[in-house]
Amino acid sequence: MPAEIHYPFDGVPTNGEVREAAPGVFWVRMPLPFRLDHINLWLLEEDDGWTVIDTGIACDETKAAWERIMATHCAGKPLRRMIVTHFHPDHVGLAGWMADCFGAALWMPLAEWAVARVLGAGASPAAEEGYRRFYHSAGFGPDLMKLVASRSGNYATRISPIPFAVRRIEDDEVLGIGGKDWRVIVGGGHSYEHASLYCAELGVLIAGDQVLPQISPNVSVWPTEPEADPLRHFLASLDRFRQLPADTLVLPGHRRPFTGLPGRLQALAAHHDERLTRTWEACEEPRTGLEVLHVLFEQSLDDHQVFFAVGESLAHLHYLVGRGRMIRTCRDDGVCLFRQHAA
Ligand SMILES: [Zn+2]
Repeated sequence: MPAEIHYPFDGVPTNGEVREAAPGVFWVRMPLPFRLDHINLWLLEEDDGWTVIDTGIACDETKAAWERIMATHCAGKPLRRMIVTHFHPDHVGLAGWMADCFGAALWMPLAEWAVARVLGAGASPAAEEGYRRFYHSAGFGPDLMKLVASRSGNYATRISPIPFAVRRIEDDEVLGIGGKDWRVIVGGGHSYEHASLYCAELGVLIAGDQVLPQISPNVSVWPTEPEADPLRHFLASLDRFRQLPADTLVLPGHRRPFTGLPGRLQALAAHHDERLTRTWEACEEPRTGLEVLHVLFEQSLDDHQVFFAVGESLAHLHYLVGRGRMIRTCRDDGVCLFRQHAA
């Protein structure tokens, strides 16, 4: 059996506090206005400055915390670089503001930067129509469709303008940070080209949202790519992390640093296996994505979570369609139904 999950640190840093997680790697925790109410960010010390991994969501509280940290913990050396794991607003949200305030350059996978730039442009009639059509096809009725109306412009409200220029990082590229080699591991499924960073010398993985303890990273179909099969990308990405040493210290984007990576990878794969089985069993009769959501998610969901949950349901349905185990048919009214296909 793989090693169990172990949390080597007591407690968590308060907002704006800086705590050393590994030599030269510092743990910062910032607030988020969601049920998942925090994000972990990582400051890496270099001879002539600092590199930060991810930036936090755009809000005054996080900006004030960064200003405090730069004036105290980081005083005397500039913030030279931001390496951002992926385009989600809690990770890239303050990149533009930090570039302006501290002069830091943005390093990021090209697809993640490009999607951030596109979504950062805000709502448009085409985006609103794309959202409306997508959630209607998933089975949303009039009440839920009211929530969709304002949603296509949400992303832009949670970020400062994304920097115009980027320094692209790529899979397997080795970055020198603080005199150590950090290898980029690109994964899919949670976002398009999510970058994690692994340092063999320290035995540390900065995982972003690709591998989380306690919660399964969100793997969803979204209106911008309605035919996507993100679960295939996500499950394939887990193999990349299985190659890392079993005692790797994982520094995740949410919750607490942990060891026991092999066990966590196995639990994530088992979680999706179980959901795939329930998804398949739910579709003996034709079902919409929304109907499958009610089978997979028994707890109550707030107005924000329902979009992640229906996206997750569609991810499992699309995965089964892609493997020939489910058939999708779309009715004349635009609503799509999924039904078991016996092998
Ligand atoms: Zn994310």
